[in-house]
Amino acid sequence: MNRMHTLFAAILALAVASPLAAREPFTVGGLTAQPGERVSGFLEVPGGVDEGARIPVTLIHGTKPGPVLALIAGTHGYEYAPILALQWIRPQLDPNRISGTVILVHIANLPSFLGRTIYYSPVDGKNLNRVYPGKPDGTVSERIAYVITTEVIERADYVVDLHCGDGNEALRPYTYWMVSGNAKVDEGSRQLALAFGLDHIVIDTHRPNDPQASIYTANTAITRGKPAITTETGQLGQTEFKQVVMALRGVWGILGHLEMMEVLDKPLPADRVVWLDRYEVLRSPETGLFTALVNPGHTVAKGTLLGILSDLFGEKIAEIRAPFAGVVNYVVATPPVSQGEPLAMVSRIQPEK
Ligand SMILES: [Zn+2]
Repeated sequence: MNRMHTLFAAILALAVASPLAAREPFTVGGLTAQPGERVSGFLEVPGGVDEGARIPVTLIHGTKPGPVLALIAGTHGYEYAPILALQWIRPQLDPNRISGTVILVHIANLPSFLGRTIYYSPVDGKNLNRVYPGKPDGTVSERIAYVITTEVIERADYVVDLHCGDGNEALRPYTYWMVSGNAKVDEGSRQLALAFGLDHIVIDTHRPNDPQASIYTANTAITRGKPAITTETGQLGQTEFKQVVMALRGVWGILGHLEMMEVLDKPLPADRVVWLDRYEVLRSPETGLFTALVNPGHTVAKGTLLGILSDLFGEKIAEIRAPFAGVVNYVVATPPVSQGEPLAMVSRIQPEK
């Protein structure tokens, strides 16, 4: 090959390589994935007024361009089914088959997971899903929220916050569709909810609109103009396949809907969904023992007895009744309850339009 040929070959190689070369690496915190790479590591939450934490994440950076999807599990550390779903998904996501980028936040709240606590961090006693967008100089839950807001949510185009019934909650699977008033974002979120495939969807119009007081993980995305949903699949610390597979199937549905991967699952048609247009979380008036008298998924009338609250000696102190007719989304199914904590959630079925 003479010099002219060499030059020509080099130009040709550059031209062929350029679509790939144009795709930038993707960096989150101290982790960088090249196109076609799957990289796992930790986001560091530095120590401050209390101890620091680490957040295990995986970046799957596709060879082809596309959206950035963040999947966040383990905001509540006792919610195992979606945590396991992301562990199962990780090896199955082949960056060479993905258009775009997936950020897996495997366990957002490692202090709660390792401390085996429901609702609250064992370090600062706060609920991670009530402190968004977080603070760089707050307590550890607020600092975790700050890292997830700045490193994950602000980098993503779509966010799915994966929950389940907590360690004490029996739950019928459902998705929250949060309606913000931003029509474009709301329609994007609605399509995510349908793609996730659960047939009960709560229409939630009560989340704050202030991005600086977004409170909740998914709402932090929504108030920043990104479609997002909160999903609830699994319950009571259970880890059986049938509990884990619901979130797994939901994630495939979203990857297909966003055209990030070819999948067989199609979004659920809107008319297959039971839309729930009002909900109420019933909270315990006192500290004591709760005995549930209904199962999640049950249909109840206004006034149906949902459970009995008794004091620490077993004497009945309150009857908990449905505030309106609807469906029981979840109910506390283990005895201990503290004043002000949830006992059950009931939702009204949206009347036919
Ligand atoms: Zn949760």
